[in-house]
Amino acid sequence: PDVADTPLRVEGLTKRFGGITAVDGASFEVEQGTLTGLIGPNGAGKSTTFNLITGMLSPDAGRVVFDGEDITGLEPYQIANRGLVRTFQIARELGEMTVLENMMLAPKHQRGEHLWRSVLPGARGGVVEQEEELLERVWEALEFFEIEHLAEEYAGNLSGGQRKLLEMARALLTDPDMLLLDEPFAGVNPTLEQRLLDHIHELRDQGYTFLLVEHDMDLIMNNCRHVIVMHQGQILTEGTPEEIKANEEVIEAYLGG
Ligand code: ADP
Ligand code: MG
Repeated sequence: PDVADTPLRVEGLTKRFGGITAVDGASFEVEQGTLTGLIGPNGAGKSTTFNLITGMLSPDAGRVVFDGEDITGLEPYQIANRGLVRTFQIARELGEMTVLENMMLAPKHQRGEHLWRSVLPGARGGVVEQEEELLERVWEALEFFEIEHLAEEYAGNLSGGQRKLLEMARALLTDPDMLLLDEPFAGVNPTLEQRLLDHIHELRDQGYTFLLVEHDMDLIMNNCRHVIVMHQGQILTEGTPEEIKANEEVIEAYLGG
């Protein structure tokens, strides 16, 4: 991936829902080629932050800069088209389609229907790619996540963990530079979780950038070299796992809820 050293910068991001300030002046950066953790107690504002970054919600204040450009207020497909992508849960209606069909539709869904022909790798330079090449990439992604044997299976029949692998595979098909993962291991058994983590590390080594929300503190501490802590909509602190674990404020935030 060819992006700035600090692909993502969030500045003073704020979002209110009625009387609740879900995200309250949050500022942070994510370095290129890292797996950065975003943690915090339930209701801290992590998912809302993701929704603000990816254009699912517009902020009341603040801005989001991706690869040196202000992307605040852009549509989700425009943001995805710039290479900043989040995983999506497989919607129920997609459960009645096979894994392969789900994969073939993924770039369409994520990057906007009318961008269909310009979504593929190399296509950002304007080359129109054919369905055959998409198919080839689909198989590559299925093989990477070791779910090619499930290609003809209905997505609705997959286990929770297999579904997570499919969600990641779908997100990668859009050839992103950076991926936002919101609790990607929910419902995933330990074996599959480790496999998914290995894949994430492998992709990070290739230069992809990840921002990971995960409630399992040990998982974050064992896999992320940099951790950002949110509490009540604000960035409480950030640092290495060792620094975070020793931080009294963080301990209090978790105990106090
Ligand atoms: P986290 O992902 O860290 O658990 P969220 O971002 O989901 O936290 O939620 C932050 C706060 O914003 C919570 O108090 C939550 O109830 C509230 N909230 C989130 N989304 C909405 C919404 N669409 N409408 C009203 N309140 C919301
Ligand atoms: Mg959440």
